[in-house]
Amino acid sequence: MTTPCLPEPRAVSTNQALFERAQLSIPGGVNSPVRAFRAVGGTPRFIARAQGPYMWDAEGQRYIDYIGSWGPMILGHGHPAVLDAVIRAAHEGFSFGAPTEREVELAEEIIRNVPSIEQVRLVSSGTEAGMTAIRLARGATGRSKIIKFEGCYHGHADALLVKAGSGLATFGHPTSAGVPPEVVQHTLVLEFNNIEQIEETFKAQGGDIACVMIEPIAGNMNFVRASVPFVKRIRELCDQYGALFVFDEVMTGFRVALGSAQSVYARDIPGFQPDISVFGKVIGGGMPLAAFGSSRKIMQNLAPLGGVYQAGTLSGNPVATACGLATLKEITKPGFYEALGARTQALVSGLTEAAKAAGVPFVGDSEGGMFGFFFTNHAGEGLPQNYNVVMATQKERFNRFFHGMLDRGVYLAPALYEAGFVSASHTEADIAATVAAAADVLRIEAANAPTTA
Ligand SMILES: *Cc1c(COP(=O)(O)O)cnc(C)c1O
Repeated sequence: MTTPCLPEPRAVSTNQALFERAQLSIPGGVNSPVRAFRAVGGTPRFIARAQGPYMWDAEGQRYIDYIGSWGPMILGHGHPAVLDAVIRAAHEGFSFGAPTEREVELAEEIIRNVPSIEQVRLVSSGTEAGMTAIRLARGATGRSKIIKFEGCYHGHADALLVKAGSGLATFGHPTSAGVPPEVVQHTLVLEFNNIEQIEETFKAQGGDIACVMIEPIAGNMNFVRASVPFVKRIRELCDQYGALFVFDEVMTGFRVALGSAQSVYARDIPGFQPDISVFGKVIGGGMPLAAFGSSRKIMQNLAPLGGVYQAGTLSGNPVATACGLATLKEITKPGFYEALGARTQALVSGLTEAAKAAGVPFVGDSEGGMFGFFFTNHAGEGLPQNYNVVMATQKERFNRFFHGMLDRGVYLAPALYEAGFVSASHTEADIAATVAAAADVLRIEAANAPTTA
């Protein structure tokens, strides 16, 4: 076996050259699949640097960034106060493997803003937090089965890489090679927003269900809200059968509201709280940091107090906690979410108007700094309510729109099943430039591929 020669690094490289080089040393050229642009085609942009709402690729092309590292960059890139905190922390030491004061401060800050949480544990990724939340739910209830919903992503732990089975509430099938069917035999996959289905499932096997895990505002199938009656009914079923309700707020946490998505539901369901919450993305401000939290009673099940094991060499890393704390300090300032929400809404309504003017069927939605939009099949169609409806929207049209926007310096998520993110650094002018680019792309789209429906 010979290894292919790696080319000499060059001072300036094109995205294409970097992508070819990357594919020699990294599978698919990327360290997380969606970055490869497989869904939309074309060459991924290799990012050289970012500042505020902008990113520049290896060729010096500037983009208005609506990915924000998939959510964490809620303040925009390189916020001065965050940068300063990270640099100071780095001078003090990268990692100690011993407790630090900032971990306590970050835990206290999360608890202060999310009333359902009395204790948290910090980890390094959303995957790790989600995986451990399930272990905790199983340990606390002494039960094995878990319910998740089709289209929700909770990280890549084996038991969570499951798609729906063919019949109602059958066991799921692994969605990844390398996951034995036995490992997902306790994972039930149900349809998002289907009340009747989860009622029947609880009726049949409620006594065996440890937890129901949900992305309350699902951002891994574009942007789909769990309906208020759906969330309310799950809360009732969990209480009735002694199961735990797990809110995966890795994406929505501190992104859709300061109190996270659970506070959005508590507006409509008085007193609403999940039992366990999972965080990531924003709480690290762009550094590897995630968390899960619950009542003190449930958290006491974790080692070293209880029998549920969990650990991490870099958990609560001092540089990551500095980044997260500095980020939280900015976003807890009065009026932050009002301004962010208004800007995000302005973007979605601008895009909607542009599509309407072009005669392209389109719907969009947002909450706080998170948004989604769909090219629907017919004018007048509402927002998709589950995964199958999302996946039946106009894929080719989305892909052309994505590339049209990218060519005009606007970087949207490279797949129709991903949410988008606005940061506090996006200005009115950035939104206006984005809407103008969209109007241009949609006008061409309507002329070249008129809607037939
Ligand atoms: C991103 C995400 C995860 C996984 O987090 P990683 O840090 O990528 O491991 C889990 N759940 C949700 C809802 C997410 O959006």
